Amino acid sequence: MEILSTDILVIGGGLAGMVSALEAEKRGIKVLLAGKFAIGTGTNSSLANGVFASANSRFSKEEHLEETLKAGRGLNHLPLVKAMIETAPEAMETLTALGVPLAETKGGYMIDRPTGSSQLAGILLVKALAERLKRSTIQPLRSDCRGRRSSRGLWVPERRETRSGAIEGCSIGDRRCRGDLPEK
Ligand SMILES: Cc1cc2nc3c(=O)[nH]c(=O)nc-3n(C[C@H](O)[C@H](O)[C@H](O)COP(=O)(O)OP(=O)(O)OC[C@H]3O[C@@H](n4cnc5c(N)ncnc54)[C@H](O)[C@@H]3O)c2cc1C
Repeated sequence: MEILSTDILVIGGGLAGMVSALEAEKRGIKVLLAGKFAIGTGTNSSLANGVFASANSRFSKEEHLEETLKAGRGLNHLPLVKAMIETAPEAMETLTALGVPLAETKGGYMIDRPTGSSQLAGILLVKALAERLKRSTIQPLRSDCRGRRSSRGLWVPERRETRSGAIEGCSIGDRRCRGDLPEK
């Protein structure tokens, strides 16, 4: 059993996991990233149409609010809607800075696909982030049991939480082996 230690263990190699890992690394925090498949693949993110609603130079925050409430038929949780509208432009800046190709649209942004490209927008999204991860110090966890390397990642079937809700240790594994990290 291999024991690894880290400041943060990110579970899941989709958009949320990859961006969280990269943002933590930017702050000098040691990060391990575990996903069930090779990072970026097998995720909802890789299937997404890559369309993001956000205020921009052609779409005001007021319009974004109005359209969101209209689509939600008034059932929306207003504080959450307002928080999303306030932070969406910053999220778009974060994705752009991480190398995700975004083009401005009337209602926000979309993945900027090269003319004639048949690739799914979601694939372009995860590819850009996976490229950035390759150039980072973030360690993607791969299964490596008894010398057999696999391109598949690891899944986290259980995690232990303290009373305060902090996660102290995660049991991770693949179909052939299991390990513990990080034990405190
Ligand atoms: C067809 C489609 C089109 C979409 N279009 C859009 C769109 O245009 N615009 C938009 O904003 N949203 C869209 N969405 C929604 C969007 O894709 C998701 O909201 C977003 O990708 C979620 O990102 P995520 O990182 O949270 O999850 P995911 O991308 O699903 O990543 C979760 C990761 O966690 C891993 N994981 C889960 N459990 C474990 C475990 N126990 N151990 C290890 N790893 C684990 C999974 O394998 C996966 O890799 C679309 C979704 C689909 C399916």
